[in-house]
Amino acid sequence: MSKGNTDTVNQDTVNGNNSRDTSEFDAVIVGGGMVGTTLCALLVEAGMRVALVEAQEAPVRLETLDLNQPAPRVSALTPVSQRLLTHLNVWPAMAAARVTPYHFMHVWDGEGSGEIRFSADEAGVPALGHIVENQVTLAALNDLLAGHPKVTRIDGARVEALQTSAKGRWLVLDKGRELHAPLVVAADGARSVLRDLAEIDVSEDDMDQHAVVTTVRCEKPHGGTARQVFRDGEPLAFLPLTIAGDDHYCSIVWSTSPKRAKVLCEFDADALGEALGRAFEHRLGKVEVCDSAYRFPLVQRHARRYVQPHLALVGDAAHSIHPLAGQGVNLGLMDAAVLAEEVVQAWRRGAPWGSEAILRRYERRRRGDNAAMLGLMKGFKLLFGAEHPALTLARNVGMSGMDRLVPLKRVVMRQATGERGRLPASCR
Ligand SMILES: Cc1cc2nc3c(=O)[nH]c(=O)nc-3n(C[C@H](O)[C@H](O)[C@H](O)COP(=O)(O)OP(=O)(O)OC[C@H]3O[C@@H](n4cnc5c(N)ncnc54)[C@H](O)[C@@H]3O)c2cc1C
Repeated sequence: MSKGNTDTVNQDTVNGNNSRDTSEFDAVIVGGGMVGTTLCALLVEAGMRVALVEAQEAPVRLETLDLNQPAPRVSALTPVSQRLLTHLNVWPAMAAARVTPYHFMHVWDGEGSGEIRFSADEAGVPALGHIVENQVTLAALNDLLAGHPKVTRIDGARVEALQTSAKGRWLVLDKGRELHAPLVVAADGARSVLRDLAEIDVSEDDMDQHAVVTTVRCEKPHGGTARQVFRDGEPLAFLPLTIAGDDHYCSIVWSTSPKRAKVLCEFDADALGEALGRAFEHRLGKVEVCDSAYRFPLVQRHARRYVQPHLALVGDAAHSIHPLAGQGVNLGLMDAAVLAEEVVQAWRRGAPWGSEAILRRYERRRRGDNAAMLGLMKGFKLLFGAEHPALTLARNVGMSGMDRLVPLKRVVMRQATGERGRLPASCR
């Protein structure tokens, strides 16, 4: 396999009557979400030629974002994810748009006395993480890729077929275009079409909850603290957002039964504000809802394999996780960084970067970490959903006991901030 294939566009005739564009790349990524665009940025940074296929018509860009109104979808980005985005030089643009650091975390049991607090000082880091609107991260990445000579963006396109050849994979898009590459990556989210086309099985664990998200303004300032209360096994998070210097805003993620989620989304702003304030024990005073409420079904999925010859899954296409610990996109960004590291190393030395042997290295480095995190979220949900008095006691004693054990808290914090295992060079 030669290094750095040229982007050739051939006119082929398929079935004798259909004229198709055929283009060749070093890699094709399907899905231009946060994970797919990060992977694309890492591969083209090394000099690879990449096609990025995205179903949506127009990529979000920073200059066209309306920052007056906070977006409802946010992520808590860990310091390790921040380092990756800094390595790509997109963090400064994100910070100039809007990121909100949090220096403290406070988690408590709404039905008992257990509570635990974490601080950046204790963890020895400048911040435990940042709350960032997904569209800010994505727009900064799209800005980076815009006009990049190694990137071919194909927006508003869907994959219709996936075929295998001796040297790689063929992707057939709607509108008759064909793409060929030694490596095709599925970054097309939790309901990955590519994963289905490759017939990769997934284990599914319906969490029987929907996440309700919205933005609120509270009577009291958030104080740079990410807060979460558990009640009836339902985590309710108030994540700090500072908008134009006003530190009274919070992004809400309330994981609750599908039935209750539906009711909450149908409430008017006053009723929803009251329900949120009550469930949150009015810790930040009166709650004023500033946006509509949206809900997302929570299903944990894990692909049984991440790779096949010439094909790899990353991000939510490989695993989707309960949002209670805010890890989903952080795991996906780590997939992108590790896959890029393995693939670029092979590409640089002229090795077949899409071969199963190379891709398996990525799978070995990522699957265990993702599986551990998925298992942990399931355990949390069971423990906090438990009504058995022994489990309630264990929960309360465990939380408060751990709160007093600073060394143990440091270990937990290192895990939560993404400092796990051998990190790729782009994240160190
Ligand atoms: C309520 C909620 C709160 C969350 N909070 C956090 C948090 O605090 N921290 C955190 O780390 N994670 C969080 N997550 C998880 C996080 O949002 C996801 O893990 C992350 O968005 C996954 O990114 P992705 O790029 O893999 O997939 P996606 O964001 O789903 O992107 C997939 C992309 O592929 C495109 N696409 C889909 N199908 C096709 C196709 N056939 N052809 C071409 N393109 C296609 C889509 O248009 C989309 O752009 C949360 C999730 C939820 C639901």
